[in-house]
Amino acid sequence: MTSEFETQLREVSLRVTQPRLAVLATLRDHPHIDTDSVFSLVRADLPAVSRQAIYDVLHALTEARLIRRIQPSGATAHYESRVGDNHHHLVCRSCGGIVDVDCAVGHAPCLTASDDTGYVVDEVEVVYWGTCPECVAKNVAQ
Ligand SMILES: [Zn+2]
Ligand SMILES: [Zn+2]
Ligand SMILES: [Zn+2]
Repeated sequence: MTSEFETQLREVSLRVTQPRLAVLATLRDHPHIDTDSVFSLVRADLPAVSRQAIYDVLHALTEARLIRRIQPSGATAHYESRVGDNHHHLVCRSCGGIVDVDCAVGHAPCLTASDDTGYVVDEVEVVYWGTCPECVAKNVAQ
């Protein structure tokens, strides 16, 4: 398991450190997780790690595109390690839950601008806003 993450780090020329390995493992097990939750989960294994160290790791891994930062408007930043497949997200307005949804096209950019005015478009951000099944059920019950 660890060696897979070590390979990923080496491929992007990042030094292999315990906090970086721990963050990658945490994101594999908990997709769409916010900074505070990453911090508490990593800290359970590495009690000496500081909050600032976790911020730095998340920043470095995002810059290296090993992880992706998603921040639906009104929400805190969430991170995931599923990168490179141009998938999108369903976001619940009620509880803030985030779920993956495969891109119908499968590659970026998956929408065509009505007029790109000469821009070379390489990515389109798609967020499906709505209410998750749990929140729909709760609202019906009330
Ligand atoms: Zn919900
Ligand atoms: Zn996702
Ligand atoms: Zn798409």
